[in-house]
Amino acid sequence: MTTRRLYYDDAFEKEFTARVMHCEVLPPDVNAGITGSVWGLILDRTACYPTSGGQPHDLGKIGDANVLDVRDEGDEILHLVDRKPSDPEVNCCINWPRRFDHMQQHTGQHLLSAMFQERFGLPTDSFHLGTEICTIDLHGPEPSAEFLEGAERAANQVVFEDRPVNVRYGTADQLSQLGVRKEVNRDGILRAIEIEAADLQPCGGTHVRRTGQIGMILVRRCTKVRQDWRVEFVCGGRAERVARHDFQLLRQTAEKLSCAPEDIVTAASRALTERDANFKNLRALQQRLAEAEATLALQTTPPGASGSRVVSRVFESVSGDYLGFFGTAFTKSEKAIALIAAAEDGHVLFAQHSSAGKDMNALLKQVLERVGGKGGGTRDFARGKLTDPSKAPQALDVALSFL
Ligand SMILES: [Zn+2]
Repeated sequence: MTTRRLYYDDAFEKEFTARVMHCEVLPPDVNAGITGSVWGLILDRTACYPTSGGQPHDLGKIGDANVLDVRDEGDEILHLVDRKPSDPEVNCCINWPRRFDHMQQHTGQHLLSAMFQERFGLPTDSFHLGTEICTIDLHGPEPSAEFLEGAERAANQVVFEDRPVNVRYGTADQLSQLGVRKEVNRDGILRAIEIEAADLQPCGGTHVRRTGQIGMILVRRCTKVRQDWRVEFVCGGRAERVARHDFQLLRQTAEKLSCAPEDIVTAASRALTERDANFKNLRALQQRLAEAEATLALQTTPPGASGSRVVSRVFESVSGDYLGFFGTAFTKSEKAIALIAAAEDGHVLFAQHSSAGKDMNALLKQVLERVGGKGGGTRDFARGKLTDPSKAPQALDVALSFL
């Protein structure tokens, strides 16, 4: 039994009648996103396109059943539907917005691939039509930005010229004589798609009638994938949506930067430069403040019985950097020891002047074992982070008791 493929002759056929030749219950296919039982239908004729050649399958209706998937099984086309049609004679329709979108992307791909090869010598290895973005994998050296723009412009020129897109049939030899882009080693009559004076390539997919129906072709990113260069592109309705979305982003960014959309690069660079300068400034001020606080702390901390000066303090609203500045400044003094912590994030820092003769790393480990946290360092300088920041005062008490 062979299913007649109506889309071969007319890709614009949206509604058709057919007879159900075979109907069976199929098990769920989780890989295809089908979790319940489905029915597999074979019709005598169909306008539903099955997944193949990089183009996804159609959706639509067969009688009162919804089409979930369409698969190419050689001579037959298998339709997966959600219920058994009540009558073997069925009125069918395809989801036209989805199909027309696929036709725009697919025909756009023929044209873009032709331009990549014709003008720039890069053949297309494969094509993928995704739900958002389409991709062409090009084989050869890395395409430059000028190259991508050149191919995009050349393809759009053919769109503007609104050239006919024709279906050609012939043997491999006949197509070869016509200058087909990709030779096929298959017997019998082959189908090829011709974009007048631009491209001829074998294809069983669905295409628009004239290049004007492709609409605008937009080439997006190009990234390296294994040995190939993957070029992202969108055509027609997708190009319209993508361009609108891009402009919305541009406008929102400009609003945030309080500038005109055309000035966002300058404004963003300026904002980043300011941010970096402010950060540097803030660090320098933090260091000065920490050093001043350390000097004050030294003056108000008398030496203990062992002759060492120990400061133990939980700081509010400071960063880990601040603890570093304070600890370093305080322990520049002979026999000074700093056991300090930040209240909010639970940073702890134990530092000493080497003349104090303790082991800060060992001390920190002992404290963290009791209070919980991670960290380490050297004999004179160790830092860590408490699992529970509210235990900072307890951590310092434990440290003092071990000194
Ligand atoms: Zn095609």
